[in-house]
Amino acid sequence: MRTSRLFRRLRNDFQLSIITLMGLFGVIGISPYAVYRLATGNYLVGAADTVIVTSTVLAVLYAWRTSDTVKPGIYLASIFSVAATLIAINLGVNGLFWIYPLILFNFFMVSSGKALVATILMLMTLVGYGQLNPGAVFESDYQMVSFLVTSMMASILSFVFAYRTSSQRDQLQQLAIHDPLTGARNRRAMNEELKIAASLNRRHGNSYGVLTMDLDHFKRVNDNYGHQAGDQVLIDFVELIKNASRKEDRLFRFGGEEFLLLVPNTDSDGLLAAAQNLQQQVRQHLRGPGGPVTMSVGGAMMRRDEHWEDLLQRADQRLYHAKSAGRNCIVINDGVNTASPQPIV
Ligand code: GH3
Ligand code: MG
Ligand code: MG
Repeated sequence: MRTSRLFRRLRNDFQLSIITLMGLFGVIGISPYAVYRLATGNYLVGAADTVIVTSTVLAVLYAWRTSDTVKPGIYLASIFSVAATLIAINLGVNGLFWIYPLILFNFFMVSSGKALVATILMLMTLVGYGQLNPGAVFESDYQMVSFLVTSMMASILSFVFAYRTSSQRDQLQQLAIHDPLTGARNRRAMNEELKIAASLNRRHGNSYGVLTMDLDHFKRVNDNYGHQAGDQVLIDFVELIKNASRKEDRLFRFGGEEFLLLVPNTDSDGLLAAAQNLQQQVRQHLRGPGGPVTMSVGGAMMRRDEHWEDLLQRADQRLYHAKSAGRNCIVINDGVNTASPQPIV
């Protein structure tokens, strides 16, 4: 059970799996070199190898414990780059072989820009040192040029691959959590963010309010003017709400013409003020082909230890009340007073 969870984490987290793999390489592949170098009196390389092995193990433990792979990635890429440069300077050609896997590692672990800078610095140091100390790193100029050309090829190919992979990952991420019509976040993102909000509320007491918003008589827009006209109203609505809400508020489209705004760091008065402001904006500026389009709003404050689905349900009930109260109005529940709500028009 526990083992299967570990494997799942490895499968789902690419950076974590690379850091772990490097941990294994470090312990199995590099520690014999460290022992050998120390035993034969090459203390500089022996120390560099030892630093590599211990840093890797520490970084692996840190990454597993915190799920943060960015800091250990930058840390390892820096340590490895410096150590590999020292080893190559000290061992000459035999040390240069390590540069190739290191180039790959850097591009796997840190952003492609950072990896490119680290690689260029490393190559410049090696070539600079080789020029100042002929015979120390490279046996001939021909060998130096061959090394430079092959390592640059490896770097450029890795750069292109890493850059492409990360932009595709960003695109996929974007597609997975956004609604293609309006650009608002989708239901999947909403569930995730509500879960996170509930856990921050439980652990740190962060306060959250939610507003569920539903366009009034929206079916009429579609029926009278066509689906495309309806789509345009939805697009305009999202634009309007995004502009009228605070930067930290998150808008989600969780149904056809149903939206949720997650409002952090607020109380029920603040939530009501936000709802009133948004409703006024919609009243004044949202226009369909047949005239103004209004919305009904239900709101609720997150209660301590409340499951996020219960919060959603409470907000939805208030929305239902707002609809029954005649639409174009707001019903807010402050999370404490559960007495029958007063519609505020
Ligand atoms: P109420 O005031 O009670 O909310 O009335 P309503 O007509 O807005 O409510 P209802 O839930 O009956 O209708 C919602 C309509 O929203 C039905 C559906 O055709 C329309 N709709 C849902 N998704 C989309 C969409 O992506 N584009 C367009 N154009 N219409 C959509
Ligand atoms: Mg509606
Ligand atoms: Mg609806």
